[in-house]
Amino acid sequence: MADPTDCAWHDVGNGCHAYVQRDGGWGWSNAGLVVGDGVSLLVDTLFDNRLTAAMLQAAAPVTAGAPVATLVNTHANGDHHFGNAVAAPVGGPVEVVASAACAAEMTELGPDLLAALNADPTEVGELFRSFFGEFHFDEVELRLPDRTFSDRLRVDVGGRTVELVELGPAHTQGDVVVHVPDASTVFTGDLLFHGGTPIVWAGPLSNWVAACDAIVAMAPETVVPGHGQLATLDAVRSAREYLVWVEASATQAHAAGIDPWDAAQQLARELGSTPGRFDQWGEFGRLAVNVEAVYRELDPAVQGSDVVTLFQHMAAIEGTLPG
Ligand SMILES: [Zn+2]
Repeated sequence: MADPTDCAWHDVGNGCHAYVQRDGGWGWSNAGLVVGDGVSLLVDTLFDNRLTAAMLQAAAPVTAGAPVATLVNTHANGDHHFGNAVAAPVGGPVEVVASAACAAEMTELGPDLLAALNADPTEVGELFRSFFGEFHFDEVELRLPDRTFSDRLRVDVGGRTVELVELGPAHTQGDVVVHVPDASTVFTGDLLFHGGTPIVWAGPLSNWVAACDAIVAMAPETVVPGHGQLATLDAVRSAREYLVWVEASATQAHAAGIDPWDAAQQLARELGSTPGRFDQWGEFGRLAVNVEAVYRELDPAVQGSDVVTLFQHMAAIEGTLPG
């Protein structure tokens, strides 16, 4: 087991590196580096400027001889792009690339809103800080992509081919994986939480299942998740199994006329009484968000819960909410 306070680069071989932060819990995302002849490609930045600067500094022994020329954002959650302005200052030499759907979504939940929630003196702020209190959103400036694409984009990184493959909407609207065929490595972004529970912000779940199949079909030896320790395809298969289980279970609950929050609690109890299944994963409470995602798919007229309610539900399932 890695030290839970550890944030460090790991050489995964063939000029690929993974920066893994702590245990991969809320906001503790990973980044990646693909090194070619004289230039590098960076996969994602981190949740704030300080974390991103530390990550870049730790990469300096490698990037000194192969500076970052391309930054790919795998998706629009802030823990994967809030550090962009540090890694790729506007007007500088680094080109920022993302899917068009990702770029469109990046402006929806900006650093200002998160900074305001972190500073909120009420119970809502207290809840928010229990998830994100360690991050410095007030220092973040949005830095949007210079170049967007849909479906696929092939990038030359100093003589190596890197494939950007859009597999969303799933976790978010525009999820992209970074496939490095000559290193048999895939950087999955948040299509994989290793040791953590998937969270379906966008869906449909069936598309995330298809995304898992697409990653498996790439047959990588090394899988770098968006959160958590380095993985293999076994972790992708487990995530797929979870998503199939949530979709089937929530569909059944919907057919039985059960309210989505009741259904999530019921399913959490069911999992809790089957030790060793997905309840061992971190952020287990995300089940509440995932059940709602299935209900929205089944009936687009369903009014989803607001973000604060969703976090209250997740905290309640994990038993961490005071009272
Ligand atoms: Zn993330």
